[in-house]
Amino acid sequence: MKILALSDRVDPRIYNDHFKERFRDIQVVISCGDLPEYYLDFVVTNLNVPLFFVHGNHDPSQGKKSLAGGFNLDEKLVVFKNKLIIAGLEGSLWYNGNLHQYTETEMYFKFLKLIPRLYLAKLKYGRYLDLLVTHAPPRGIHEGQDPAHLGFKVFQNIIKKYRPRFHLHGHVHLYNYNQSYQDFYYQTQVVNCYSYRVIEVD
Ligand SMILES: [Zn+2]
Repeated sequence: MKILALSDRVDPRIYNDHFKERFRDIQVVISCGDLPEYYLDFVVTNLNVPLFFVHGNHDPSQGKKSLAGGFNLDEKLVVFKNKLIIAGLEGSLWYNGNLHQYTETEMYFKFLKLIPRLYLAKLKYGRYLDLLVTHAPPRGIHEGQDPAHLGFKVFQNIIKKYRPRFHLHGHVHLYNYNQSYQDFYYQTQVVNCYSYRVIEVD
């Protein structure tokens, strides 16, 4: 299954007349946040595939619950096409009290709401999770140095215990080619989806 993951930046390689042709084998779109609704709308209208999203801390939609007809993944676990288990947690670490910012403790309590669904998934599918979708990175991986761009420790714990195949996040802008955007943490591939990434899951 091919996933188009988007985050943080309206990318001219996506937002153009050839997009539909170039990305026609995409089966699902995932937004890791901070993108305007018109852009998400453009993507899903052209590809005619489902959208799953989390809000970022700089979301132009100002916290609108639904975006571009997509599914808001925050504190939710869904099973796409009865095979891909996806769970999401929105927002960034708290730094000035604006929308979609959470302290480590608040994020921990958001994560607790996922636990029953994770165990149900394990019972039904033999594994907890395939894709963890968040805006912020896990602590220690891809994170920035300022308080706003630090990662969450609780995401590390989710990775260690529930072992998603991928953790897709955004929030940390990529400024040069030396900056790492794809790294393993335990068995999970952590991918910074700034701009866009195409991810293949079998
Ligand atoms: Zn952000």
